Amino acid sequence: MIKPRAAAPPSTDSHLETLDHEDLIVRRGRRSGLYTFVAVHSTLRGPSLGGCRMWGYLDSHEALRDALRLSRAMTYKSAVADLPLGGGKGVIMTSPGASLTSEQRTAALLDFGDAVESLNGRYITAEDVGTSSRDMRVIAERTRNVAGLPRRLGGSGDPSPFTALGVESAIRACCEHVFGSGSLRERSVVVVGLGHVGSRVARRCARAGANLVLSDIDPRKRRLAKDLGTGWAPPERALEVEVDVLAPCALGAVLDQTTVPRLRCPIVAGAANNQLASDSVADLLAERNILWAPDFVANAGGIINIAEELHGYDAAAARLRVRRIGEIMLDIFDHADAAGTTPLMAAMDLARQRLAA
Ligand code: NAD
Repeated sequence: MIKPRAAAPPSTDSHLETLDHEDLIVRRGRRSGLYTFVAVHSTLRGPSLGGCRMWGYLDSHEALRDALRLSRAMTYKSAVADLPLGGGKGVIMTSPGASLTSEQRTAALLDFGDAVESLNGRYITAEDVGTSSRDMRVIAERTRNVAGLPRRLGGSGDPSPFTALGVESAIRACCEHVFGSGSLRERSVVVVGLGHVGSRVARRCARAGANLVLSDIDPRKRRLAKDLGTGWAPPERALEVEVDVLAPCALGAVLDQTTVPRLRCPIVAGAANNQLASDSVADLLAERNILWAPDFVANAGGIINIAEELHGYDAAAARLRVRRIGEIMLDIFDHADAAGTTPLMAAMDLARQRLAA
């Protein structure tokens, strides 16, 4: 998993530190001595689900802020995907640049498991930045409220293929809205960030007949461009490539007052969380007539897959459900057009309606 800047804001959240959460626990682990924060934003629609982030924060304020706003973003993500889940998030706070020994890591994960268990099922954890499905096995020694365990242990495993499937579905919905057809044949797409999700988005688009340009800060990723026979753009120029679709699949906050004026594409739809540096960037995109697929809708494939664990995991059922992201996206665009607002506002309204219901 990538390491985004610790303080990158989620796009769903313009009131970064508003306290409208149901629970917030702060604990110092008795084994590791590390602080853990678990924020339960909402259980209105079901138990709160959200990953466990292990990250080096400059101070406790930053870590707390991440737990508060990321848990709120999870409430919105699950509500728009119509999942029977609320929003929560866990943070294990380490120091910047610190690397834990395997004993310290295990101790921190066991401590975190105790914190999760203390919430009696109101929060279910899963992997996130800095944790893996292997770590979930350790946490599971202390609590049953863990999702995303490896497949051979009955969990749903790596969410990335499902996230990529959902992103493809979102891209197709955008193409349908803008060009009148969801076909990707001969559409040009630039995929920026070729990690777990981006590399799969690239392969899916290539299979669907799109003309691709790929980009990553890691030069080793050029191999994928060679394998797929696609073009390559240096990362500093990737946002300015003239294409039908820009798919940001790396870090957050890539769209801001400086980058949006330089875009040369009618569609932005990708996996990266928190693509907008602030909510007002959604207006800037609309002014430039660029259709933006709200990230927390486009990248919900992973959580939709995890949610399948709640009633006995079935990968085929998960895939069917993830493909519906395209329909949800089209509804959001229709609502935005009818109300004369942005897709971001329409998606937020949909989430609020579901929460109110
Ligand atoms: P990853 O760490 O596997 O891949 C990220 C890739 O982006 C890496 O190859 C990295 O070299 C590249 N990168 C970093 N900065 C870059 C830059 N400035 N320009 C170009 N490339 C750059 O991460 P991932 O799991 O593929 O996740 C990608 C994004 O999708 C993240 O924002 C993540 O929060 C979001 N997301 C992932 C999932 C999932 O299932 N993994 C689910 C929802 C959202």
